[in-house]
Amino acid sequence: MSASILNQIPENRLHYGGRWQAPSGSGRLAVRSPATGEPIATIALADDEDVARAAAAAQTGFEAWSALDTAERARHMNALAAIMRERMQDLAELESLVTGRAIREMRAQMSRIPEWLEYFAAIAQGLEGEANRVKGGLVTLTQYEPLGVVGLLTSWNHPALILVKKLSVALAAGNACLVKPSELAPLSPLLIAEWCVEAGLPDGVVNVVTGDGRAGAAVCAAREVGMVDLTGGTATGRKVAAVAAERLIPCTLELGGKAPVIVWDDVPVEEAAAGAVFSAFVASGQTCVSGSRFLVKRSIHDAFVAALKARADALRVGDPADPATDMGPVISAASAERCFAYIESAKADGARLVAGGAKPSLPAPFDAGHFVPPTVFADVDPAHRLFREEIFGPVIAVTPFDDEDDAIRLANDSPFGLGASIWTRDIGRAHRLAATVRAGVIWINDHHKNDPRSIWGGFGESGYGKENGWDALRSRMRKRSVVIRTASRFDDWFAGGARYG
Ligand code: NDP
Repeated sequence: MSASILNQIPENRLHYGGRWQAPSGSGRLAVRSPATGEPIATIALADDEDVARAAAAAQTGFEAWSALDTAERARHMNALAAIMRERMQDLAELESLVTGRAIREMRAQMSRIPEWLEYFAAIAQGLEGEANRVKGGLVTLTQYEPLGVVGLLTSWNHPALILVKKLSVALAAGNACLVKPSELAPLSPLLIAEWCVEAGLPDGVVNVVTGDGRAGAAVCAAREVGMVDLTGGTATGRKVAAVAAERLIPCTLELGGKAPVIVWDDVPVEEAAAGAVFSAFVASGQTCVSGSRFLVKRSIHDAFVAALKARADALRVGDPADPATDMGPVISAASAERCFAYIESAKADGARLVAGGAKPSLPAPFDAGHFVPPTVFADVDPAHRLFREEIFGPVIAVTPFDDEDDAIRLANDSPFGLGASIWTRDIGRAHRLAATVRAGVIWINDHHKNDPRSIWGGFGESGYGKENGWDALRSRMRKRSVVIRTASRFDDWFAGGARYG
């Protein structure tokens, strides 16, 4: 990584009102490399006073941003997209350093990020109100307007991607943003706030406060915040929703998942296994839609498990900065411990360990990293925790099924409903399953693929609200109607005016 990118992020500073700001208190937090445990930077723990100042700056930013014409806002967003495209290699290296994700993955992901800014900048210009002539000589206009300051609470697994998705739609709608990134991965959000200034966005349009969950709670409580958009765990989602309900402000919740992957016997086993490792082990299994419950037609179960084992064993686990690495560590020591605890409990419950299971032996400094190998269990009982709970790591369960009803029952046997994939060559079956499996994002013969146009969001304990597409843009705005009398004479109600029901 060019050393300059880390130097561009001063330590222990927040970013609001268009500049780096010293925090009011002395609370600090170390950001560490998950691959080595070594410190990368320290950040400030924002307190209530910092969040209040940042919220006030965001309100000022909102007034400037919402006063701009949509096309002018689009120009600024496109300028930000251009900056990101130009610096995407550096951004990929920073993301890989902080999250531990393999550099080849981060390069692929960073190359897509500017598309979100460009897409929302474009469609916001196509957002048209409506006018209807209605009875009584009236014309009703429907108009969209921004909500104000939107609180963005983001997770650590795709710090830049998730932030840019949320920023793009909020900004295109004319809102200002008050961002609280995960304490584990706050560096790219801070840098992006500085790039927003460089791109010409008015001061205070994008503001970032760093800290722990308390700073997130303060963002939700800030009087200027008119909507909260969270990506995080289900427990956090419940807390954020409760605050939003109390304040009567809308919220969007992108929460956890336990994605089923249904594999039919008409798909070549090697393709199914390639799809399985892709769905399960990208980002070391730390995505909300990671394939984690593999439901496999009994007739190909053993062949599928053998092919999956071969591919899982072949993945190169190690230094995320090495372009030859397939999989890096998980985010933290706590996360690795949680994965190994699931592995032990699955063994104790009689599931068959097929691949992985033990901490990989790596040379220094990676021996101090939080590595968990790609781990596959077969013959997993659907009652087992491994099948039911979100692990958020590279540990997966394979369970056979007998027929379509069985596959649907197993797939829907979860409180989550975010991602799912269906692998079959039978188009009728693919559509039947897609209509019945309870998930907000369903892939057929693929997984993970995401695009600014494809709406994204879950059901059940995976949350509510949408990212991407027109639905997302409209939901970050208010819509209201304006009713205009065009009749020349007022229809005097108390002087016998017409009664329109
Ligand atoms: P968390 O729920 O721990 O945190 C999410 C964000 O909320 C962080 O910025 C966190 O701060 C903040 N936060 C924590 N407590 C509160 C609170 N009481 N009020 C307001 N904000 C708070 O999630 P993780 O960062 O650990 O991310 C992993 C989770 O995210 C997984 O469950 C995963 O499934 C889900 N996820 C969902 C996606 C989707 O699209 N549906 C995509 C990616 C992940 P801090 O980190 O400092 O505690």
